[in-house]
Amino acid sequence: MPAMKLSEQELIEINKRLAQPQEICIITHRNPDGDALGSSLGLKVFLEKFHHNVTVILPSEYPSTFKFMKDIDQCVVFDLQRERTAEIIGRAEMIFCLDFNALDRIDKIAPFIEESNAKKVLIDHHLDPEPFVDYTFSEIEASSTSELIYKFIDDLGEVNKLDRIIGELLFVGIITDTGSFKYNTRAETYDIAARLKEVGVDDYDIQDKIFNNQKEKELRLLGHCLANRMEIIPEYRAGIIALTKQDFIDFDIQRGDTEGIVNFMLMIEGIEVAAFIREQPQIVKLSLRSKGDISVQEIARNHFNGGGHKNASGGAAYAKLEDIVNRFKTILPKYVEKRNL
Ligand code: 5GP
Ligand code: MN
Repeated sequence: MPAMKLSEQELIEINKRLAQPQEICIITHRNPDGDALGSSLGLKVFLEKFHHNVTVILPSEYPSTFKFMKDIDQCVVFDLQRERTAEIIGRAEMIFCLDFNALDRIDKIAPFIEESNAKKVLIDHHLDPEPFVDYTFSEIEASSTSELIYKFIDDLGEVNKLDRIIGELLFVGIITDTGSFKYNTRAETYDIAARLKEVGVDDYDIQDKIFNNQKEKELRLLGHCLANRMEIIPEYRAGIIALTKQDFIDFDIQRGDTEGIVNFMLMIEGIEVAAFIREQPQIVKLSLRSKGDISVQEIARNHFNGGGHKNASGGAAYAKLEDIVNRFKTILPKYVEKRNL
């Protein structure tokens, strides 16, 4: 599906609504990452400049790495405050859905969104957005939803309202979704990063806060993954790391503390597809990454009830860990050409 820009008419309508103080709710996806949080909080701080009453709703808790972000402690977490979430969505006049393309990414919140009469705006960079909103701003070429929030602010004619705080929040989203400008970038990404630096963003400080704050146990878990849990399948250019429930207990690791481990396999010469598979209390979750033409989005969609981007996707299944590992190995030949060793 091509990019879906907001038309002149739609921007006029949105601007008109935003001319009066509104009850606004911003929702992003489960297990929020830096981009989900950066785009949501950046938009919140921007909208508050116009005296709107804005609440950010997260389906589940955020990783502690991001606790330095402005107003993150004011987010309402659905898993912890279900009634309050329903109440906030119930009274919203506008709902912004950020960094997800399908209602199943917000699972049990979805019915509240569907029932709401609020005007709904989707801003996102995932493939094939579902038509559950009134206005869609979707560009899959964008590095991040945070990049699109900058463009949205610009399209509204309000780029002069950008300040260091908003800039830092959006910068978090851009660097986390591009691995510090390593992938998913386009010329505009750098342009926008330059604009953010112009309004005072301390880029080094943000990079340092996000990427140099690992806990000792996380680094030890990474060591364990690479030394004891990694399997390389050279003929299919693939790497797999599978973690058991017991590993999570042994290393005192919470969900979310495993962010980034999947990428290490792509550092190996010749490896172009990587799967990080982990056993959770009810479900087995997968994080898939690839290089070049191999589409992990198709793999996630066709076999693991998931989706995402061509080179970074995820999914989940109700099955045994070893069955999921075997399923991944079995389907690999359909997506990766065998090479002679
Ligand atoms: P991660 O591996 O970092 O959790 O997710 C990578 C990308 O895959 C995310 O940008 C997200 O869009 C997508 N993704 C992860 N899990 C799921 C899932 O269960 N369903 C869908 N549709 N997409 C997912
Ligand atoms: Mn994103």
